[in-house]
Amino acid sequence: MNKPTEQQLSAVRAELDGVHIIDDESQVTRLSRDFSWFSPVLTQELEPYRADIVVRPKTEDEIVRVVAACAKHKVPITPRGAGSGNYGQCTPLFGGVIIDLSQYNQLVWHKGDVARVQAGMRLLDIDKATQPAGWELRCVPSTFRIATVGGLYGGGFGGIGSINYGPLASTGNVLGVKAITVEPEPKLVELRAPEALLLHHVYGTSGIVLEMEIALAPTHAWRECVFVGDGIERMLRLGDEIANAPGIVKKSVSFFEDSIQPFLPTLHSFWATGKSALFVVITENAVDALRDLANKHGATISYNEPHLDQVKKGRTILEYTWNHTTLHALKIDKTITYIQSGFPAGQHIEHALKMKALLGDECLLHLEFIRLKEGQMTFSGLQIIRYTNAARLNEIMQLHRDNGVYIANPHVYHVEDGKQGQINPDIVMTKLRLDPQGLVNPGKLRGWELRDQIAADVRAGKVNVATLPKF
Ligand SMILES: Cc1cc2nc3c(=O)[nH]c(=O)nc-3n(C[C@H](O)[C@H](O)[C@H](O)COP(=O)(O)OP(=O)(O)OC[C@H]3O[C@@H](n4cnc5c(N)ncnc54)[C@H](O)[C@@H]3O)c2cc1C
Repeated sequence: MNKPTEQQLSAVRAELDGVHIIDDESQVTRLSRDFSWFSPVLTQELEPYRADIVVRPKTEDEIVRVVAACAKHKVPITPRGAGSGNYGQCTPLFGGVIIDLSQYNQLVWHKGDVARVQAGMRLLDIDKATQPAGWELRCVPSTFRIATVGGLYGGGFGGIGSINYGPLASTGNVLGVKAITVEPEPKLVELRAPEALLLHHVYGTSGIVLEMEIALAPTHAWRECVFVGDGIERMLRLGDEIANAPGIVKKSVSFFEDSIQPFLPTLHSFWATGKSALFVVITENAVDALRDLANKHGATISYNEPHLDQVKKGRTILEYTWNHTTLHALKIDKTITYIQSGFPAGQHIEHALKMKALLGDECLLHLEFIRLKEGQMTFSGLQIIRYTNAARLNEIMQLHRDNGVYIANPHVYHVEDGKQGQINPDIVMTKLRLDPQGLVNPGKLRGWELRDQIAADVRAGKVNVATLPKF
C-alpha cells in the first residue's frame, strides 16, 4: 500500500460535492489521533502518521459516495467515531481519508430490549433515548459520554455492565450489523450474529459498520457507592463477594489498591490515604445489604449517591473506572503507563496477590470485575505501571504471562498483537469480501499480508473458517 498522490486525492474530492470535508492541517492531525498517548511506546511510533483529509458524512447516501470515491481511486479510508481508542486505532498509517461517522448518529428504532442505531451515535445518547422506556446499554466503556457505538464495536471490548453481560463479544449482546463494501459500487450488507462479530475489535480493518442492532438491559435506579478499607486481599474478597452475590443487582464493581489513591486527589474527600477502595454501582435496595457485607470485611461506605444525578453533574465515579483511572493518574504523573490483563477465573484473587508480591510498587492493582464470555466471574486488570523503559514494560507483561495472567498488550497497534493474539483466517476472509482492495485502515491487520495463502488454504479445505458471511 502506498500513500495516495495529490492526483488521487483531488479525484476523490471532486466526487464529494456537498459532503463536509476538513483539510485544515491542525484539525486533520488532531482527528488522526486517539488516546494512544497513554502509551509512551505508541506515542513515539505513531507520531509521523496522519490522514490527508477528513470527511464527515451525515447520511447513508453521503457515506456511499465517500466509500465509492475512495474505492474507485484506490485511496485508503479509515473509520473514526470519537477517537477515544487507546491503540492508535483510527490513526491512518498510509494517509488518505478519515471517514468520521460522528454525525451519522440517529436511533433507527427501539423495540423493548433491542435497539437499532447508526454507528456514530454516542453511547450516552443511546441510553438517553432508551432509558425512559426502561432499557439501557448492556456494557459501555468509561468513555460512554463521548464514544460512539461503532467505535466501541470497532475498537472496544466492554466495560461498565460487563459484570453482568460479559464483554461485548458475548453471545447475545450484538444481534447484527449493517456494513458497506468498499468497492466502486458499494453494497450494503446485513450480517447477523455470529458473522457480525467478524467486524468486532478489528479496528475497522475488516469493514465499515453503518448500523448496529444491539440487545439492551433493564435500567434501574442505580446508586453509586465507595467502600474503603484496609488490606488488598480483604478488599478484593469483599469485591468478589459483591460481584458474585446473585441477589445484588449491580452495574459495576472496581477495585483500587491503596497506592492508587494519591493519583485521584479529587476523590480524597471520601477516599482516605492508606485505604484500598471498591467503587460499586448497585440498585438502591442493595445498599443496606452491602453495608452489612462491608462491616463483615472491616470496610465502610464513604460515598453513596444517585448514579444518574452524578452522570448529569459530570461527577460519576464511573468516570474514574476502567481506563479513566489511567487518564486521571496521567494528569498527576506523566511518567506512568498501564497494562491490560485478564485473570484466570476461580484463581483471580490469588493471581492478583501473587503479581503484587512479585512486582510491588512498580505495578499498582486496578481491577475491574467482569464475567467472561463463558459466564465465570473474574477481573480484568488495568494496572498502573511506574514506567522506566520499553524493555522493562515488556518484562512486566511477560512476567504476568509466565504466571498465568493473560495480557492484551495496549502498547501495539496491529490487531493481532493486541487482544486478538493471532491471525484469524475468518477475519481475513471477511476483509477479502468487504474490502477486496485492502483500503480500510491499511497496515493494521497482519493477516492481510497472508491473504492469498489463507484463501488458498480455505479453498483447499486446509483451514476451517466456521463463520463466513453469506452474501
Ligand atoms: C479514558 C479511557 C477509558 C476507556 N475505557 C474503556 C472501557 O472501559 N472499555 C473499552 O472497551 N474501551 C475503553 N476505552 C477505549 C475507547 O474509549 C472505547 O473502546 C470506545 O468505545 C471507542 O469509541 P470511539 O467512538 O471513540 O472509537 P474510535 O476511537 O473513533 O474508533 C475505534 C476503532 O474503531 C474503528 N471504527 C470506528 N467506527 C467504526 C465503524 N463505524 N465501523 C468500523 N470500524 C469503526 C476505528 O477505525 C478505530 O479503529 C477507553 C479509552 C479511554 C481514553
